[in-house]
Amino acid sequence: MAEKRDYYEVLGISKGASEDEIKKAYRKLAKKYHPDVNKEPDAEEKFKEVNEAYEVLSDPQKRQTYDQFGFAGMDGAGFGNGYSGFTAGGFDDLGDIFSSFFGGDMGGFGGRSSRANTGPVRGDDMLRRLEIDFMEACFGTTKTIRLQVDETCSACGGSGAASASDIETCKTCGGRGSVLTQQRSMFGVVQSQRVCPDCGGTGKRIRKVCPQCAGKGYETKTQTVEVRIPKGINNGQRLRVPGKGARGANGGPNGDLYLEIYVKPHDKFIRDGKNILLEIPVTAVDATLGTTVDVPTINGEVTMKIPAGTQEGTQLRLKGEGVPDSRGGKPGDQLCTVRIRIDKKLTAKEKQLYEQLRDLENKSGKENIWERFKNSFRN
Ligand SMILES: [Zn+2]
Ligand SMILES: [Zn+2]
Repeated sequence: MAEKRDYYEVLGISKGASEDEIKKAYRKLAKKYHPDVNKEPDAEEKFKEVNEAYEVLSDPQKRQTYDQFGFAGMDGAGFGNGYSGFTAGGFDDLGDIFSSFFGGDMGGFGGRSSRANTGPVRGDDMLRRLEIDFMEACFGTTKTIRLQVDETCSACGGSGAASASDIETCKTCGGRGSVLTQQRSMFGVVQSQRVCPDCGGTGKRIRKVCPQCAGKGYETKTQTVEVRIPKGINNGQRLRVPGKGARGANGGPNGDLYLEIYVKPHDKFIRDGKNILLEIPVTAVDATLGTTVDVPTINGEVTMKIPAGTQEGTQLRLKGEGVPDSRGGKPGDQLCTVRIRIDKKLTAKEKQLYEQLRDLENKSGKENIWERFKNSFRN
C-alpha cells in the first residue's frame, strides 16, 4: 500500500492555513479531480484523498487532533477492540477519570454518513496526546489544558431555530427524515428508502435560524479543563475526559476525549515499569574496600551500602524507592547498577601507594586475577 500523504500536502497548503485557504484549495482540487470531469486513471483515488483531507482539516477539532497526533489520531488506530495496549496499563479501579471500558462503538472518526436518522447520536471519541514531566508521572499532578469544545447552543438548545415556533415538521418526509422512492423496472416496482433531500434527515425544517449559532445548533468554545494525573502513570496510558470529544448529532451528547500520556524522559533516571534504573559510579578503592554512599532517588537522597568486593555491573536494590503504585500498592524499587570508574589523574602519593600495593601482591606469591585467567588456558 502506498504511504498516506500528509493532509496539508494533499491540499497543497501550509500548516498554518486559514479556514478560507483550506476551503479554496479544496474547491480547486475537488473540481480538478472530480471523476465526472477527470478521466485519468488515478483521478478517483486523488478525489478521495482530497475529500478525506478536507473532512479533517475543515473541522477544528479533527484538525487539532491531526496536528498533534497525525494519522494515528485519525484512523482509529488504538481505538478499536483488539488493541492490546489498552488494558495493559491496568486502567481499572483508578477512579472515575480512568475508563475501564473501551467499548465497541469507538470507531474513531468518520462513519457518520450512515446516520440518516432523526434520533440523537452521540459524538465520536477523540484522542489527544498529553506530555508530562518524568516526576509528574511518578507523583501525579493536575494539568490545565485548553480545548476547543462544541457545546449545545445556549440560545436555541441545539434546535438551530430562533424560537420553538420556527421549527416545523418537514413536509416532504412528514418528519421521518427519509423518503421512499419507487422505480419501475422489468421486475416490477422497486421501492427504496433514502435520506430526505429537503431536511437532510432531521425531519424538521427551520423557518428562522437562531441568530446566536446561525442555525448550527452548537457553538465552538475554548475551554480550560483541569485533568488529574494519577501518580504512577506511564507512557501510553489514557485518561478519559467525559463529554469533551466530538459533538453529537440531533441533540446527542458529545463523545469523550482521551488523553494519551507521553512522559518526557529524565536525563538520569530511567523508568522500567514501577522500578527506577540508575547507574552509579564507584571508585576502584570503594568497590574493593566497601563504603556507604548517598544515592539520589526520585524521593531524594538515600544512604546505601556498597559491600566490599563489589564487581562492575553489580545491581544493588533500594527497596521501595521506585515509582509509587497507582493503585495504592507497594511502590517499585530503585535498581542501581555499579559502574567502577578508574581515576586517570593520580597524585604522586596515590601513585606511590598503588605501586606499593602491586609490589605487595607480587611478593605475596598469591595468584592474582590476571594469573588466574592465564592459568585457565593451560588445561
Ligand atoms: Zn424531510
Ligand atoms: Zn442557536
